[in-house]
Amino acid sequence: MLLEETKHMWEEFISFMKEKCSQAEFQNWLAPIKVIKGDERGITLQVPNVFVGDYLLENYKKELASFIPTDSSKNPLVNFVIAEPVAPKKKEEVKPVIPQTILTPGYEPRQGVRLNKGYTFADFIEGPSNQFVKSAALGVATRPGQSYNPLFIHGGVGLGKTHLLHSIGHEIKKQHKKLRVQCITTEAFINDLVDNLRNKTVDKMKRFYRNLDILLVDDIQFLQSRLNFEEEFCNTFEALINDNKQIVITSDKPPSQLKLSERLIARMEWGLVANVGIPDLETRVAILQYKAEKKGIRIPNKVAFFIAEHIFNNVRQLEGAINRLGAYCGLMNMEVTQEIVEKTLSELFSFAPKKKVSVEKILQSVSSMYNVRVQDLKGNSRAKEIAFPRQVAMYLAKEMINDSLMKLASSFGGKTHSTLLHSWNKIKKQLESDETLKRQIQMTKQDIES
Ligand code: ADP
Ligand code: MG
Repeated sequence: MLLEETKHMWEEFISFMKEKCSQAEFQNWLAPIKVIKGDERGITLQVPNVFVGDYLLENYKKELASFIPTDSSKNPLVNFVIAEPVAPKKKEEVKPVIPQTILTPGYEPRQGVRLNKGYTFADFIEGPSNQFVKSAALGVATRPGQSYNPLFIHGGVGLGKTHLLHSIGHEIKKQHKKLRVQCITTEAFINDLVDNLRNKTVDKMKRFYRNLDILLVDDIQFLQSRLNFEEEFCNTFEALINDNKQIVITSDKPPSQLKLSERLIARMEWGLVANVGIPDLETRVAILQYKAEKKGIRIPNKVAFFIAEHIFNNVRQLEGAINRLGAYCGLMNMEVTQEIVEKTLSELFSFAPKKKVSVEKILQSVSSMYNVRVQDLKGNSRAKEIAFPRQVAMYLAKEMINDSLMKLASSFGGKTHSTLLHSWNKIKKQLESDETLKRQIQMTKQDIES
């Protein structure tokens, strides 16, 4: 196979994908891929890092297989090579010469966070909602400054952002003993700056931060509407990134939704933006069992499912439940039963479990909203007028039904959980800007619940 021919195939695939995915997804994941080679063993693609290759195969294997040669089991014949990291361009301005090995004398950052011992990768339970962000975090910890920089982790309260941030800190300390790591909360950074402004020691503080190898920043949303601090943070950020120093940031929202300067938002989007989602039922059960076991509490499987079915928003609440059960059963020297759970955890269950909604009901509503047949929604057609409503239905299924992704996906004519997750992500993103879709989904939801 000639390189020309291979390039042509790839271009066809790319123009097909341009239609299929959002602009942001396309820019982030597909545009950076380059064709290097084509021979009888398939095509070789150059990717900026392993995640891009994984993403492509995880989400678009089928599509890829219809454009490039495949093996006998219809797997696309594709190899990946990782591009050499390009050093970011240095700014023209003259930087003060700072000896790299000496930390700033006379300056002790008082507010650095001590890493929580329990927040390690080993203690972080993986599931579809956090697999990607965990592997990105692990990648950054293994090769700081050389994979994604910055890594921006966002997600709701109590879903493990701080846990992952500290895990990166522990791992770097283990694997790269000589690197200088500082983990701070955004509040602490601001307080530190205030103190140093008052004591006229800001230069020392700046030097300290700019001499770090890794900066881990928790809860960047607290920088919103703190204009003066934002500028200082942005300067520190740029100084570090320009020196290939690793930065990891957590936030309750993606960068684009933060009320921060365009400059800082653009900087934070430079690297990888990754989401920590709400864990599905099986993952919640696994977390619950793991944490209970660590505390020496035995929860029978059935009871664990019962708890995880009722506490579904937030991992911290699951931990609260375990602590409460531990206190109760420890005192009374009892085994955890459903009865005890109901008695001790009823307040945590205060938000009633979601109403019983079935995939069938969703399919019916979506089919009448978009005027397509239910059997087509369950089928494999990629025509836009069918594929789009199918994605809406999958989005609604994940939003409205508290069940495992695998089970939900299989109700769509045997799709995989990654297809469902991809659809959910796509629709969720589109909802941020598409008012018509928002209304359609609202109406469909009402119909489903009525
Ligand atoms: P966030 O910073 O997102 O608000 P945290 O990182 O503080 O959340 O997590 C809240 C609690 O839930 C922590 O005790 C953390 O250990 C636990 N937790 C969250 N996700 C997981 C997970 N996937 N596996 C194990 N523990 C988790
Ligand atoms: Mg946190």
